[in-house]
Amino acid sequence: MGLRRSLYKTPAQLRAMVEPGLITAAALDAVRALIAPGVTTAELDAAAFDVVRARGAESNFQLVRGYRHTTCISVNEQVVHGIPSSRVLEPGDIVSIDAGAQFRGWNGDSAITVIVPGDASGATADAARVAARQRLSDVTEGSLWAGIAALAHAARVGEVGDAVQGSIERAAAEDGATYGILRDYVGHGIGRRMHEGPTVFNYRVSDLGPAVRPGLCLAIEPMVTAGSDETFVEEDDWTVSTVDGSDGAHWEHSVAVHDGGIWVLTAPDGGAAGLAPFGVTPTPLT
Ligand code: MG
Ligand code: MG
Repeated sequence: MGLRRSLYKTPAQLRAMVEPGLITAAALDAVRALIAPGVTTAELDAAAFDVVRARGAESNFQLVRGYRHTTCISVNEQVVHGIPSSRVLEPGDIVSIDAGAQFRGWNGDSAITVIVPGDASGATADAARVAARQRLSDVTEGSLWAGIAALAHAARVGEVGDAVQGSIERAAAEDGATYGILRDYVGHGIGRRMHEGPTVFNYRVSDLGPAVRPGLCLAIEPMVTAGSDETFVEEDDWTVSTVDGSDGAHWEHSVAVHDGGIWVLTAPDGGAAGLAPFGVTPTPLT
């Protein structure tokens, strides 16, 4: 029965997930507002930490053994788990920021991807490359919303991955492009711990996994490349980069399933805007 308790939370436990979700969203908003040429990824991390601390929360990333930062920041061919550093952002860089917060023992986890704009001195990046990077981010974000929308009607967790993969495949066909979905890294349940069961695949699997029922909380997080899905871990033992050097993007939200429907915990509007194209209306936790 322990397993069931960890998969399906009580209404009170779901309500406890709201604040860490909103703190995580606020931390990412602060990072997004700072992104510009000349800013270092360590400065972005510090901005996220300031928000988490100001709201009385802890950085749950710092609770991961061996990790000392509030965010992971992955640039260009880095897809996930990049370490904030003195690296300076340049116009046209594609930057994925993954952040989380733990508040009163409950966790939020979310990621966004942003393309660094041109700077005031007129330095700009190659327009075609910027457009391709923005499209990669949009395709990845679209697949996240497709996965969340699927969760609203799903009987089993595995239907999320089917929707994510389907969304990516449709985009690839439209664009005449290749997109790779990382297979070695996946989404997860979230609650008392940032990472808990069940596994949330971003692709089709034959075993559809546990039932979707009220109380389920999932972090859905497609990681997508503009090329092959093959990756390697860099010498820092954290950063995951593409083998073919293609760009990566990463979008993530923590989502609660409850008696009234679904609610995106890491979006201040509960996911209303992102879900609208799918005809899904999120329902607040009460
Ligand atoms: Mg994350
Ligand atoms: Mg996660």
